[in-house]
Amino acid sequence: METQKLYYSDSHLYRFTATVTRCEKVTNGYAVTLDATAFYPEGGGQACDLGTLGSAKVLDVQERGEEVIHLCDTPLTVGKPVEGIIDAERRFDLMQQHTGEHIVSGIICARFGYHNVGFHVGTDMITIDFDGPIPADALPEIEAAANRAVWQNLPIRCWYPTPEELPNVSYRTKRVLPWPVRIVEIPGVDKCACCGVHVAYTGEIGLVKLFSCVKFHQGVRIEMACGGRALALLNAAFDQNRQVSQAFSAKWMQTGKAARKMNERLAAAEYRCAGMERRIWDAIAADYQGQGNVLHFEPELSALAVRELADRIAEKCVGTAAVFSGTDGNFNVCLVNKNGDVKELGSALKSALNARGGGNPGIFQGTIPATREQIDQFFQEWFRR
Ligand SMILES: [Zn+2]
Repeated sequence: METQKLYYSDSHLYRFTATVTRCEKVTNGYAVTLDATAFYPEGGGQACDLGTLGSAKVLDVQERGEEVIHLCDTPLTVGKPVEGIIDAERRFDLMQQHTGEHIVSGIICARFGYHNVGFHVGTDMITIDFDGPIPADALPEIEAAANRAVWQNLPIRCWYPTPEELPNVSYRTKRVLPWPVRIVEIPGVDKCACCGVHVAYTGEIGLVKLFSCVKFHQGVRIEMACGGRALALLNAAFDQNRQVSQAFSAKWMQTGKAARKMNERLAAAEYRCAGMERRIWDAIAADYQGQGNVLHFEPELSALAVRELADRIAEKCVGTAAVFSGTDGNFNVCLVNKNGDVKELGSALKSALNARGGGNPGIFQGTIPATREQIDQFFQEWFRR
């Protein structure tokens, strides 16, 4: 028996009463049909509604032929009236995103001739895929046009052209459709074949925010959000900016400049520091001039600095330079021999003290979870060989 689809006559009907026509036990609950429903079933890229039917929770809604099937967690009595309550916040959010998608797709189709070939509603953003390249710098203009359409508060008209009218109606579609075709029209913005649910006036979308446009297959993927989602995302971004503003003691519209300035200062400080380090490494290495094998500990060096110091010492000594930095249980290590091979020593460190790392015959670089005492003892024995 065909279910009367109340969501098509009023997309803002969130509470209704209908009669239960069937209730069957299925694997994960009860499949319930009604003589009429305002629950939108999953379809056309739009998620289904959730809510309650009497005391039962509606877990899923699907369309089977002319019927709408509500998957409920408890059974309902056939022949009895039941009140349906839809999660209105969820439905309105989905309608805001979906109708906003129509506007953006309509604008892009008119300006560039590209079609919406994929649509996904994520937990925060939504994405639309188009079948042609849209330059990222066109985004502000598309966004401005979309918001103008929102602020004009245009009525959304859903209608079925007659078989005679249909060939003369030019509309966006993914494939050629047989009559009857449901046309969703936003005057002057978009005309599209769609079986989804939409807000009644574009003003209800509130805001359209486009976030990014990146190459995707043969075209692009646009990340966007509408209405409440757009506001939530912009609030989150604003909060991040507020934190940056506090951290840099910069005005909130000047955080970009403050961050660039900080990067420049950091790069200059790193350059100065590297020069000072080189002079220190040279001074340390000078003490090992002409010595044989060298074991050297230095506190708090990065892996890169350990490598540089080992290199400098290896240039001065005639054997292997073994440099360690860190604390007991967590050392960076670099072994360098300018005229020989440290492969065997590296392997011995791995098997004796669980060192990790590698390199080439003249260099071994890695980490070691041993204590300084264990390392000292290992090298005393190794160098004595
Ligand atoms: Zn639609």
